[in-house]
Amino acid sequence: MGNGTGALLRNPDPARGCKKSGYYPQSKRAVVDFTALFFVPDAITISDARSAGSGSQGSAGSGSQECRRTAFQSKKNGRFICAKRYHASICITIPAVFSYGIHYLFASFFFKYQVSRVSRKNSIMIREWVSLKPHNSFRIDANAAFFTEISSTADLLRLMDTAIFLEQPRYILGGGSNTLFTQDFPGLIMKIRIPGITVLSENDREVILQTGAGVNWDDLVHHTIDRGWGGLENLSMIPGETGAAPIQNIGAYGVELDSVFVSLDALDLKTGEPTRFDREMCRFGYRDSIFKRDLKGKFLITAVTLRLSKQHRLHLEYGNLKEVLKADGITDPDIRHIGSAVRKIRSSKLPDPAVTGNAGSFFKNPVITQDQFLKLSETHPGIPSYPAGNQIKIPAAWLIDQCGLKGKRLGDAGVHERHALILVNHGKATGRDILDLADTIRAEVLDRFGITLEPEVNLV
Ligand SMILES: Cc1cc2nc3c(=O)[nH]c(=O)nc-3n(C[C@H](O)[C@H](O)[C@H](O)COP(=O)(O)OP(=O)(O)OC[C@H]3O[C@@H](n4cnc5c(N)ncnc54)[C@H](O)[C@@H]3O)c2cc1C
Repeated sequence: MGNGTGALLRNPDPARGCKKSGYYPQSKRAVVDFTALFFVPDAITISDARSAGSGSQGSAGSGSQECRRTAFQSKKNGRFICAKRYHASICITIPAVFSYGIHYLFASFFFKYQVSRVSRKNSIMIREWVSLKPHNSFRIDANAAFFTEISSTADLLRLMDTAIFLEQPRYILGGGSNTLFTQDFPGLIMKIRIPGITVLSENDREVILQTGAGVNWDDLVHHTIDRGWGGLENLSMIPGETGAAPIQNIGAYGVELDSVFVSLDALDLKTGEPTRFDREMCRFGYRDSIFKRDLKGKFLITAVTLRLSKQHRLHLEYGNLKEVLKADGITDPDIRHIGSAVRKIRSSKLPDPAVTGNAGSFFKNPVITQDQFLKLSETHPGIPSYPAGNQIKIPAAWLIDQCGLKGKRLGDAGVHERHALILVNHGKATGRDILDLADTIRAEVLDRFGITLEPEVNLV
């Protein structure tokens, strides 16, 4: 860029009409240079490695590396200006406009439009130093070194060819409602935005529905209840996205995702191969699946397929669902009533993340052996329990409550006053503060009951 434009400035065209003969290539360069002014990125566009030139703007070449360092130093929230390039462009292009006239302005806009149209088709936007506060329900003020949004499988395949994807640590982010950022994330956050709800097949009894991983879970629940398709009503109002639902086999009010699950589509993040996982392959358990264990971080889920019923089987046994329906005068409930009752109970019990940052239950309910339970019952006769196969599940909230930790605060990190299993951010808590509080709770529960609590929330 420098040489060509240098020539242009050293030999200004005295007669504007000349550009059709000798000066056309140089004028073209002026347009390119002027255009560069408008191309100065407030985010890096990483071109598809298959189509990117070496080190040119838009590629992940050395120029971008330089910009990246600038971004880290300036730490501007998601926006940065590669100062050198910006400065050079101004110095070069403003004199060019004075020499060649305002029509360069229009030409450059047109040129920019055409080039960006082509490059956008083959690129994926990666922003730098992006605040994660709007992207996690704990409202932790951490930053991501790199942040990109994935709206399709094609986006992901393009991303997988970039140096940033290949070299940086990665984290797949849905709604961030089961994630605690314990510090700034030094790598690439892949925020899932894949849309779409499609009926794959339908008969008198059931509907097979495929949902993009970026569809908000509760929007999906509304969508199905509105159409009279049963199965998700007990799972109303769980925050997050559909793609994350199989990760921990979400569950509430006596129903878990695996009861309606058919399959999921995912991309292998090493090979880019699309893979379909059926129910067995997912190895669902209590708040668990293979994606939390052997395949953690190895596959990106793009779509989830569910089987919903038109002949409903209602689940009213759990919690105080029946009482709430009765109090509302519902004697013959349908899925719509159940959905509403679940919403009512959840709104009265759980803190709204939009008001008080939290990620729902912070710990899993521990599952212990029969022998362990018998020993515990001797020292703690009132200990509540539920069968879990041939083992026993203990409510973690009860254990924490018994340690007198309900409402405990360490700075702005706290245990919820009414729900001992929910840790909250009272305002300015950092991820570290929440983690310190969690460690205190774990130590006290271990000391008193000999049980190690495991976090349900993903610690990043
Ligand atoms: C107020 C409140 C109430 C809650 N109640 C319940 C409840 O009743 N039952 C329940 O089970 N949970 C509950 N949760 C937890 C949470 O809502 C669920 O676990 C939800 O499924 C998380 O979705 P998300 O998109 O926010 O996941 P995120 O926090 O963004 O991600 C969770 C995990 O899934 C991975 N992931 C996300 N998307 C993908 C993808 N497309 N491909 C591969 N991996 C992916 C992430 O890397 C991470 O490991 C609650 C949370 C809150 C804040």
